[in-house]
Amino acid sequence: MQRQRHVAILGAGPVGLDAALACAGAGWPFTVYEAADTVAAHVRAWGHVRLFTPWDLNVSRRMRTHLPHAPAGDDCPTGAELAARLLGPVAELAAMEGRIRLRTRVAAVARTGLLKHEQIGTDARAATPFTLLLDTPDGEETAEADLVLDCTGAYAVPNTLGAGGIPAPGERALDHRITRTLPPVHAPDRWAGTVLLVGAGKSAQTAARDLAVLPGTRVEWIVRSPAPDWGAVPDDTLPGRRQLVETSQAFTEGAGDRVTVHTGAHVQALSPDGDRVRANLATPGGPVEVVCDHIVALTGYVGDASLYRQLQVHECYATAAPMNLSAALLGSAGGDCLTQPAVGISALRNPEPHFFILGAKSYGRLNTFLLRTGYEQVDQVIGAYAPAVSV
Ligand SMILES: Cc1cc2nc3c(=O)[nH]c(=O)nc-3n(C[C@H](O)[C@H](O)[C@H](O)COP(=O)(O)OP(=O)(O)OC[C@H]3O[C@@H](n4cnc5c(N)ncnc54)[C@H](O)[C@@H]3O)c2cc1C
Repeated sequence: MQRQRHVAILGAGPVGLDAALACAGAGWPFTVYEAADTVAAHVRAWGHVRLFTPWDLNVSRRMRTHLPHAPAGDDCPTGAELAARLLGPVAELAAMEGRIRLRTRVAAVARTGLLKHEQIGTDARAATPFTLLLDTPDGEETAEADLVLDCTGAYAVPNTLGAGGIPAPGERALDHRITRTLPPVHAPDRWAGTVLLVGAGKSAQTAARDLAVLPGTRVEWIVRSPAPDWGAVPDDTLPGRRQLVETSQAFTEGAGDRVTVHTGAHVQALSPDGDRVRANLATPGGPVEVVCDHIVALTGYVGDASLYRQLQVHECYATAAPMNLSAALLGSAGGDCLTQPAVGISALRNPEPHFFILGAKSYGRLNTFLLRTGYEQVDQVIGAYAPAVSV
């Protein structure tokens, strides 16, 4: 970096906070914009869930340098513990003072005065600063930046539950009845009755496991695959992940009496049925009707692309991740997220110079993102702009 550029970091999740530490280390002016009234808002939202990865994988090198007494070792924290014992303290470091703007949502980003299709690939475009439109408690504002790191995650943008990924008929009208985040089960009565659970990833598996132990709850679990492997990894070195897969397999084989797994099935339609909801299912054995008290849809999340609509971001048509990164990840697809290769800076670059999508959002529809990967992405960006700074 020839001159000091102002860096805008969008989102104060683990990756945004690590990027902030990197900017501080490089001596760059930076501002972190966080939509919520606290840092790590998404992590806190699934705070009751225990991570599969241990502290040693969840604390970045930069965090460890600043917080030498941060937890270490093989224990896996819950999201709440990660926020309380690591991410909160990172945000309180002296290097962060006055740098984090809470309750400030970045609504849109543009090149100042340039539309998406203008100055394609020119030096003039690269030299034009970014304008950010901010929603703040005092109204709208704008801010400028020279380098933008979009670390806004994906947890706030859930997928719908119908076949083919579009809303099932009736789903939109019943949106207020559908929980699309991991259900906290510390208030068991909240989930009394029948829960229709949709999805097969680790979040849905976690919900099935947690709901199944509630005495007043039955789970009707809708899974698209006729023979789900539950993402099993041979000789899995992460015990929490292995146990979760084993539990899901046991449910499929009929273990316990509180969970019925409908494999090869999808929701065809939802409709109100008094205080309850009627779900029409298509299953290999024919149509099935389930009347339920709650719907939990955990069919994945994909970050908000509207934020950079005016920028020259090349998204992959299949994964919605930035194209170069998606190509690198699909090229090495399959297997364990622990063994994915680190990609170089060229995979993180967009046609839009100085704009990077990092963290969980950068994986689009791919579900193998790990915190460790996000921290490596920060290394790549800092290394590209300030090779002399040790990361
Ligand atoms: C239930 C669950 C369990 C997981 N377990 C693991 C695990 O065991 N190990 C692992 O390595 N990874 C795990 N992950 C994956 C991943 O590491 C996490 O999703 C992690 O939180 C991603 O960090 P992030 O910083 O990219 O984004 P997030 O944590 O999602 O943070 C994004 C931040 O941006 C803010 N924001 C959003 N939009 C805006 C906006 N427009 N303007 C300003 N701020 C905005 C949000 O409020 C949030 O604070 C898990 C994910 C989930 C959902």
